[in-house]
Amino acid sequence: MLQKPKGTYDIYGKRSLMMNYLKEVFSNLIDKYNASYFETPMFESSELFHRGVGETTDIVSKETYDFKDRGDRNMTLRPEGTAGIVRSFIENKLYAESLPLKAWYMGPMFRYERPQAGRYREFYQIGFECFGTYDPMMDAETISIVYNFFNLLGLKGVKVNINTLGDKESREMYHKALMDYFKPYLNELCDDCNRRFEKNPLRILDCKVDADNDFMKCAPRMTDYLNEVSREHFSLVKNYLDAMNIDYEVNSNIVRGLDYYTHTVFEVVADIKDFGSQNVLAGGGRYNNLVENIGGPSVPGVGFAIGVERLLLALEYEGLDNIEFNPVDVYIFGASENEKEYIMKLANDLRGNGFKIDVDYESKSFKNNFKRADKLNSRFVIIIGEEEVKTKILTVKNNKTKEEYKVNIDELIKFLDEKLGDFDED
Ligand code: AMP
Repeated sequence: MLQKPKGTYDIYGKRSLMMNYLKEVFSNLIDKYNASYFETPMFESSELFHRGVGETTDIVSKETYDFKDRGDRNMTLRPEGTAGIVRSFIENKLYAESLPLKAWYMGPMFRYERPQAGRYREFYQIGFECFGTYDPMMDAETISIVYNFFNLLGLKGVKVNINTLGDKESREMYHKALMDYFKPYLNELCDDCNRRFEKNPLRILDCKVDADNDFMKCAPRMTDYLNEVSREHFSLVKNYLDAMNIDYEVNSNIVRGLDYYTHTVFEVVADIKDFGSQNVLAGGGRYNNLVENIGGPSVPGVGFAIGVERLLLALEYEGLDNIEFNPVDVYIFGASENEKEYIMKLANDLRGNGFKIDVDYESKSFKNNFKRADKLNSRFVIIIGEEEVKTKILTVKNNKTKEEYKVNIDELIKFLDEKLGDFDED
């Protein structure tokens, strides 16, 4: 039997309901922030991700799905959403419109990682980006969106951790301090970290292999190398979060796995017993140089991405995933083959009036049809026979109470509207 590729999964049944539900809740919420929906291609030129995400990150150096297309171009399946949105922002000259511009997306991302619970090779992210303001209000607003979204879903066990990576000047001072600090430990660091030491020593703090070394715990902290501007920026972000009553903790170990961040970075983690190691539900931050690095004008940005599978897992752990298919309003079947045309028309009209309808396509027995109506949890059943077609009086059966009503076809929509209203009140 052919099987799905390792690290992927199929979306159907409850999972598809939950994913649609998340998209709906998020799109309603994000509309309140005046953000617009974006879709960008699932593959882009490899160069975009090399420039955008960064050569020294694990994502680009080890995890991308790269391929040559038939025109010999180097392409990459997107490993994250920000680079594509930034490319679109530049290519469509959206920077020339009124800024700030707020964008959101939901779609699959691809990373060749070792699959485990909460970690896939194709996974979904819901993301947000805002272009065009340096103001720390937007850093705080960005964090508040994730916080409010998780609150709306009813999630309790989540924690917001924030940190700052400062501006370029602070970063350079910090890089130097890190290099001075790690230099004596080079032969104790893994091969990857030896490479990171030269190119981007900040990444060493993010290393899973070296994380347990004692000397890692005493590494210099970014907060000690912030210049005045960076310190002021971070302090305002915290003030605004306080003003919105958002719980957070400052955690100086957060550096995030992508190279483009400046100033504020944050993660929202699941604080749920036995949740497992893949507990970062969402991450994001400010990226003041990314648009320029990708070839656009100097426009700052800030954003986040939420991992949909991990969010679904958290909702499951907290019993917040009790979502069910909407029941069918009316199930229609015929007494014989002869009523099929009539049934097609009736079903088409009722669907056009907003009712959820299913029908018997196969002229099954009465018994089988009632079984199917029960299975679909149909609220009403209509059986069409010669008599009904002739008299235009239909028998409508409440499938729960088994009560039967004689309804003129011209009155059917009004009747269903009224009676289905009673169901909603139950
Ligand atoms: P990142 O783009 O790496 O900042 O990741 C943002 C969020 O996407 C993470 O916090 C995770 O929730 C989710 N995520 C990242 N990689 C994976 C993966 N391989 N499988 C499932 N979710 C992921």
